[in-house]
Amino acid sequence: MATETTLILFKPDAIQKNLTGEVLSRFQKEGFTVRGIKMIALSDEILAEHYSHIADMPFFPSVRGFMQETPVIALALEGENVITRVRDLLGPTDSNAAAAGTIRGDLGDKSGDSKMRNVCHASDSPEAAAAEIKRFFNEGEVLSF
Ligand code: ADP
Repeated sequence: MATETTLILFKPDAIQKNLTGEVLSRFQKEGFTVRGIKMIALSDEILAEHYSHIADMPFFPSVRGFMQETPVIALALEGENVITRVRDLLGPTDSNAAAAGTIRGDLGDKSGDSKMRNVCHASDSPEAAAAEIKRFFNEGEVLSF
């Protein structure tokens, strides 16, 4: 077992529906520890970098607009195998395909936007987590205690 840190973003649908407490509670019940937390309004530039793997997709402008509907809340979350375990807690991208009991299955959009309005972003590998924590947190904002 490895102690890892992952980058979570509470997306605008989570902010709009007041779901941040519910989702954070699910993470804390797993024993994960918040090492950094901040609210940020995302610029076009940071979204182009963060979503470079989907930048050529036809739905990217919608995703960028969605991610700018409200500020997001970023977490640096630490725990044993936290990267894989949080992805499992989230479920797949499409909230309609996510099982009951997962965050996206229980709390994601179930109407027309189920692939986009899916509550949270979470890093999908140790390499992505390291790059994403640097992207969203400045030096000194992720704390050991
Ligand atoms: P994940 O966040 O599950 O790792 P991706 O990295 O593939 O998914 O996509 C990034 C984000 O782009 C998704 O979380 C979702 O908000 C949005 N997205 C992905 N695929 C679609 C799609 N087909 N239509 C609309 N939005 C999408």
